[in-house]
Amino acid sequence: MANDKEFFRFSNETDNLAFKPDDLLECRRIVDDVIDEFPGTIVYPKAFNREVTCDGPLFELDPQTGYAIDCAGRHNGTHKTILSTLKQSKNKCCMPNIDCAECRLLATVLPSRLMPKDRDAQSAQTVRDWLNICQYWSWFYLNEPYQQIA
Ligand code: SF4
Repeated sequence: MANDKEFFRFSNETDNLAFKPDDLLECRRIVDDVIDEFPGTIVYPKAFNREVTCDGPLFELDPQTGYAIDCAGRHNGTHKTILSTLKQSKNKCCMPNIDCAECRLLATVLPSRLMPKDRDAQSAQTVRDWLNICQYWSWFYLNEPYQQIA
């Protein structure tokens, strides 16, 4: 395609590669299938797959600022991030073009789940799901063995 004179960005607000709710569900289904097909190879709890493919924000948002209040990323919203446009980012995070309402970054979503939520204590299954997510974190970051709790 020809140069669009805007940093070669061919997408726009309505036509872009961001996942829509249906895409997220399709992604969930495909990843679940792969987990089933290669259980000895794929390390990825279905509980985490289910969470990160839910529609809507993954974090609790401050209604005033829109900032995630339960994100484990060490950003408090008071630092300045200058974007490649030389303008100051209005987002909480130093990562450009991501706001907390749509954030699905593994590097922050996964550690954020180490802190249990009320919903994690609703049943034996939700506790198991949460422990599997924590185990996934320790496998991913600490190279600990992953043993799914069924
Ligand atoms: S954009 Fe994502 S990683 Fe950054 S502060 Fe918000 S929720 Fe955390």
